[in-house]
Amino acid sequence: MTGLTDLCTTPACIQAASRILTNLHLDYKSIDPCTNFDAYACGGYPTEHPFESTDVLSDLQSQSRDVVIQLLTHPYNPRNDATSDDEDVFNMVAGDFAACLDVDAIEKGGLAGVPDMIAQVQKLFPIEDYNSNKTLSGPEYEKYADAVSYLNSIGTAMFGDFGTAVDVQNPNTVIPTFNLISPNSSDKALGATYDISSLATMNLTDIIEKIEVILPQAVEQGATRQLASSLLAFSAKLVGIYTNTSTPSLDAAQILYYTTTVAEADEAAPALGFEKVIRKQAPEGYKIDRMQIQVPDLWANVSTLLSQTPAATVQAATIFSTYGNYEPYIKGSVDPAKDRTQECAKYLDRSLAWIGSKLYLEQKYSDEDRDAVTTIMENLVVSFGERVKKVDWMDEATKTLVLGKLDKMTLRIGYPTETPDALNATSLKAYYKGVKITSSHFSNVLSIRKWYSNLTWEALSGPLDETTWPNSGVHSWIANARQWRERNTALIPAGISQSPLFSRKTPLYLSYGSLGYISGHEVTHGFDSFGRHFDQNTRLQEWWTESSADAFDNRTKCFVDQYSAVPAIGWDGAVARTEKNETIYVNGEFTLPENIADTGGLVTSYDAWKKLDDDSPQQGLPGLEQFTRDQLFFLAFGQTVCSRLTADDVAIDVSINVHAPNFARTRIPAQNSGAFREAFNCKKKEPTCELW
Ligand SMILES: [Zn+2]
Repeated sequence: MTGLTDLCTTPACIQAASRILTNLHLDYKSIDPCTNFDAYACGGYPTEHPFESTDVLSDLQSQSRDVVIQLLTHPYNPRNDATSDDEDVFNMVAGDFAACLDVDAIEKGGLAGVPDMIAQVQKLFPIEDYNSNKTLSGPEYEKYADAVSYLNSIGTAMFGDFGTAVDVQNPNTVIPTFNLISPNSSDKALGATYDISSLATMNLTDIIEKIEVILPQAVEQGATRQLASSLLAFSAKLVGIYTNTSTPSLDAAQILYYTTTVAEADEAAPALGFEKVIRKQAPEGYKIDRMQIQVPDLWANVSTLLSQTPAATVQAATIFSTYGNYEPYIKGSVDPAKDRTQECAKYLDRSLAWIGSKLYLEQKYSDEDRDAVTTIMENLVVSFGERVKKVDWMDEATKTLVLGKLDKMTLRIGYPTETPDALNATSLKAYYKGVKITSSHFSNVLSIRKWYSNLTWEALSGPLDETTWPNSGVHSWIANARQWRERNTALIPAGISQSPLFSRKTPLYLSYGSLGYISGHEVTHGFDSFGRHFDQNTRLQEWWTESSADAFDNRTKCFVDQYSAVPAIGWDGAVARTEKNETIYVNGEFTLPENIADTGGLVTSYDAWKKLDDDSPQQGLPGLEQFTRDQLFFLAFGQTVCSRLTADDVAIDVSINVHAPNFARTRIPAQNSGAFREAFNCKKKEPTCELW
């Protein structure tokens, strides 16, 4: 093996080299990279990161949050070219942050505006007698819908969350949506987080205690215990519906993006009042036609349950939902065991995120960075296209379609530049128009949620804004990237385009091995087992020839089997086990789209980098002279997701995470890269599984 002698010895290179060395297993030479590349590349990480760290991306995320915290906890320090708008938006986000930090004021504020909200729900959906078993029917449907519509206007939700999105059957149009409440993947600013089915995990005494706080009318009528039992029974039935609903005839994309007419949705689930809520929330003059409903079969069953439940219980559930969504911002919500500064920084992730982004961008992201990341991304798209042309399992007609979609893929790099322009204070001020920041944490949350609800429904007035970014999850200090499948758009925020994943000052194999792999991962998502159902115009339909679609599906089986055979292990090699002491394996079916993207990202990024390296080879790194440039590229890839998760952590991860556990994300894609096997001189040279 010939090593590198021409070395880069700049401070950035020395730092990068030292990080790679600390992550490497102390005795990496004793480990076979061909079978255990995770241990080889990341074996040193757990001992070097003994406490707070869980993985490389969360390390980067907390460093990025610290940048914003630093700025917000110090007096405003204007740049030379700052305008009064710059100061205004700084004060907005600093005020939002300070109110969150003011634990005394939160405690003194008691229930804040929650009783007013509850009174409003009771006014719209009145219950005379909390002891009555009269079920929800007829005119009460209308009242329930009024209450849900009110909940929507204050950014909360019952069962599913009303909003708007692009119609996947007619991608130039925005239509109303009814989606599952998904706290971790919501695109909304301060989106709803409370799901009423969580009542099923509480015991009767706790529910009674809550009723005493939020529903004194029921207590006065002596209905507390009966209402609590009824709520518990209701939520248990709801959980039953959530677990038992299956939609065997539809695939994942069709279930998540199911569209129908509002009239048909109402007919299938009359108690949920789709038409009524949409009519109330949509702009005046909006012509109601189609809507999107996630997991359609679920809602017919929820509607039936509602119609068989006492109206008093349904109203109480609506009140619990209101309370549950605002409970994190009132008295008693502050967990003394948690670092409040960190908690409030996480809150900023979901509140005035684009203003916080401006502060972050000014510190950590230059035009040159943006240009360099754009080049990486563009090169990745080219390489992906070249791979498409070479695959032998797809016919020419389908290849032409796939290349057409790739050609149309929008790349959003760093930050939004139009709605809003995250670097422009005037644009940000206009975007957040209507948000009022005060010293009350509760009022700030309410104001932001109301603003966001308006923004959501205004989108129905059209035309479709092609420039927006999701409002959560990918703003500028987030160490994450995304393929927005319904928009054929790959987003690479500034927060993930940072050292150690990307730097303009180190050899290209490091940035391509890491950020390049991540970028390729996002490109591939447009063509994974889920994304491939969206055509060149982001219409959800079958647009490939049958034989190419069958060939694709057949190849995915290799990935499912490959990952399903991998026992889940912790950083120390301990195997994750069930309570019955059975070995837990990676769920190859559940993680399939991510696994396709991981392998696609790695092989595509290698191709993109290799072309550049052939043209002008880059220097080696001090202390790592024993590695070839190809090996260094793969080390950068392997160290992107080093972690110190225990076997127990991984057991949980396997059951909830759409990605394979970190160790498998390093180990398996390496085995699917012929170039990796060549670089590390593995006995087997062919990739185990291959799609793109
Ligand atoms: Zn992904």
